[in-house]
Amino acid sequence: MEKRETPEKNFRVLALKYRPSRFSELVGQGALVKTLTNSFSANRIAHAFLLNGVRGVGKTSTARVIAKALNCLNKKIHQAEPCNSCENCISIQSGRSVDVIEMDGASKTGVNDVREIIDAVYYRAASSKFKVYIIDEVHMLSNAAFNALLKTLEEPPEHVKFILATTEIQKIPPTVLSRVQRYDLKRVNNIDMIEHLEKILKKEKISPERTALQLICREAEGSIRDALSLLDQVLLNSDNTIKSETVNEMIGKVSKVRVLELLDLILCGNTRDTVKQARVLFQGSVGPEGLLKELLGLVHFVSLIMISDEFLSDDIYTTEEQDKAKEIAKGLTTVKISSLWQILFKGTEEIKIALDPLISFEMLMIKATHMSLLPRPETLIKNILQSKTDKINYVHKSNNNNNESPFKSKNEEIKNFEDPILKGTENHTKQNEKKDQEAIKEILDIFPGSKIDSQE
Ligand SMILES: [Zn+2]
Repeated sequence: MEKRETPEKNFRVLALKYRPSRFSELVGQGALVKTLTNSFSANRIAHAFLLNGVRGVGKTSTARVIAKALNCLNKKIHQAEPCNSCENCISIQSGRSVDVIEMDGASKTGVNDVREIIDAVYYRAASSKFKVYIIDEVHMLSNAAFNALLKTLEEPPEHVKFILATTEIQKIPPTVLSRVQRYDLKRVNNIDMIEHLEKILKKEKISPERTALQLICREAEGSIRDALSLLDQVLLNSDNTIKSETVNEMIGKVSKVRVLELLDLILCGNTRDTVKQARVLFQGSVGPEGLLKELLGLVHFVSLIMISDEFLSDDIYTTEEQDKAKEIAKGLTTVKISSLWQILFKGTEEIKIALDPLISFEMLMIKATHMSLLPRPETLIKNILQSKTDKINYVHKSNNNNNESPFKSKNEEIKNFEDPILKGTENHTKQNEKKDQEAIKEILDIFPGSKIDSQE
């Protein structure tokens, strides 16, 4: 087996090595690519572009491809893609072109920084058709800076193009928005991202476990750059394979399958094994807050599966995780899973202020497993109502000598319900009745999904 090249030799981070060099290489941005290539093919090119999207989705890469498409020496007029081999393409791709000025709005926020641009726009480009200004994080510009930019943005000289990029579109003044052509970059979905990583790894001659890639992409939350930098880290610790254990260790996450097993134990009411499993999980790098967050995430996932299998389709969860979650979802009631959510969710606040979060977590697990052992709320409520019905029937019988239950038509199910323990509690006192009310209230508090129609 071929061993991977040592990082020292020819090492370049993957995000730079595989930076998209043409529109068709932009990952997961189909709609944007289509509009941009159409406008280049039709030679209807805006004078100012605004690229909006979360970090790491490819805004800078898109800006550079646009800059190349504008200044490529070999590109025909109705062609969209740059050639990537001419002098201009090469210098723009490597960020060395004197005619493509990249500026960071985060560090150059003042009106004087913008004035520098405005004063320079009237000079022609040195060796290209267009002078292209790329302003990253443009929302960081001060109000005065935006105002100074407005006029130039509205009517720049023929040879000037602006490409603005932002992660916070809501901070851009409407006066600026109305003067630019806006493009929204999406978070890259996991299917596209996995496919992209697979292509790169094939070129690097590395065979990954698909599960490992799924874990990386899930962690990256739609950011290609984050996915690639995670992959860089994992590669430093791998030879020519990538395993999910390595990825989990790297991102300091506990395996979701293990957490699903914990969830299963809680729902089965197995307190002893629940506590034991939690302790095993804590031997890794996850803390109580992290584990609780994972648990809540999986309660949400299982709840979705209970509604429909279609929620499995976005490839966020591995096959093993999906199978385990489906197994748990089987025969589970919405009331039970939402009650567990309630308990765990309240627990997040408790753990934050706990003197010893580990102890708090274990107590929370005990509480949660205990909830799983309680009878179903409908059963409890029926029992309580039954005891009341019996009492009312008794009074009814002695007063009217009538055998019909006053609740028959309204609550046939409850009337037919018989509980050997609670049966025969006909001598309910007023005090007991009050207790029943309290018990119903308590059950409704614990089981937020349950409903009961008042009989009074
Ligand atoms: Zn070119």
